[in-house]
Amino acid sequence: MTYQNTLSFANEMDEKDPLKKYRNSFLFPTFTDKPVVYFTGNSLGLQPVKAKEYILQELEDWAKYGVEGHFHAKNPWMPYHELLTDKTAKIVGAKPEEVVVTHSLTTNLHLLMVSFYRPTSKRYKILCEAKAFPSDQYALQSQVKFHGYEPNDALIQIAPREGEHTVRMEDVKSIIEKHQDEIALVMIGGVNYYTGQLWDMKSITEWGHQAGAIVGFDLAHAAGNIHLKLNEWGVDFAAWCGYKYLNSSPGGVSGLYVNERHLKNKELHRFAGWWGQEKETRFLMEETFKPIETAEAWQLSNAPVLGMAVHRASLDIFDEVGMEAICKKRDLLTGFLEFVVDDISERYDNVNFEIITPRDVAQRGAQLSILLHGKGKSLFDFISKEGVVADWREPNVIRIAPAPLYNNFEDVYRFGQILEKSLKAL
Ligand SMILES: *Cc1c(COP(=O)(O)O)cnc(C)c1O
Repeated sequence: MTYQNTLSFANEMDEKDPLKKYRNSFLFPTFTDKPVVYFTGNSLGLQPVKAKEYILQELEDWAKYGVEGHFHAKNPWMPYHELLTDKTAKIVGAKPEEVVVTHSLTTNLHLLMVSFYRPTSKRYKILCEAKAFPSDQYALQSQVKFHGYEPNDALIQIAPREGEHTVRMEDVKSIIEKHQDEIALVMIGGVNYYTGQLWDMKSITEWGHQAGAIVGFDLAHAAGNIHLKLNEWGVDFAAWCGYKYLNSSPGGVSGLYVNERHLKNKELHRFAGWWGQEKETRFLMEETFKPIETAEAWQLSNAPVLGMAVHRASLDIFDEVGMEAICKKRDLLTGFLEFVVDDISERYDNVNFEIITPRDVAQRGAQLSILLHGKGKSLFDFISKEGVVADWREPNVIRIAPAPLYNNFEDVYRFGQILEKSLKAL
């Protein structure tokens, strides 16, 4: 693709974009003085227009039926989460029985580690990313301590080489090989939240399994962004949140995946709750727990229907569009952003924008992380006043994520114009 940093090029691309109509399926923020350029779909996705209607349906049925809504609501609440299963399975490349929408992300990571981090005196270490998202770090440290180990000893953290920003997959392979008798679990973010690097989940799963370890991924930045094939890759477990690329409301419901090979294993340890109990016997209130033979067994509580209603509104759009089309536009749009940022960086002497996200499209999704050499927070504050909603990370990185479902090429062009304006002003 040959890009041009012009409005006419951007408009031409938008005209040709098969997903252009979906921009109108989302509500863009109105709080900025200038028209908004929303580039934080990796942090909180925009509200689907239909979300309100889907929630209202449940509020009305609650008013009309009270408790009977569990069975008589238009979408009965008892099996409400089942309405989300097939669509979720398609997004992450799983079989329907391998996924369930439930709880929140960190909760799910803990519940999955209860089942899949089973250290022994010889094999007790977890391979994870250095500087993982803080919640993941706390979850990993506390899991390790819970089993009586020291995080400093039990967590093997893989970092970029000196002077580099992203991790080389060959280094992941050699670390796994080096510690192959000690690693119980490989637990990595599919897309690193800071650099936007997409890890080679297929190979990591293979290497982990060769070493005799379990392999799980945190897909917070990957679900709805990357064309995932969890079942085909043989990943053991994964979890993600619904509110980033999946646009399902602040703190919205999470999804989890467990590979089919584990679903009938009665020996698995788990923290159980009644919603994980076999459906036929759930209301007999029996004393012994009989887990459902699907990922639903990891559910603890009855489902938060209002949050799930929003999730449905969003998943309906994903289902209509499909991940293939989303990823195709994603690469064009992110490529255009890369071109515009490079173009500006070359033309201005007072700044150097270093894109620390991989240049290789096979190693990234919709996010570019830009290291601002020669400029800092003042540039970020300037562009924010001009209507750009982006994300600032200390010491001087801006994370920008054009979401293919609702961002367009003109957004990227306007972002470039605002960047140039800031460079002239500062
Ligand atoms: C966003 C994000 C979280 C947030 O966890 P919650 O439990 O949803 O608050 C955790 N881990 C990663 C990698 C994230 O990107």
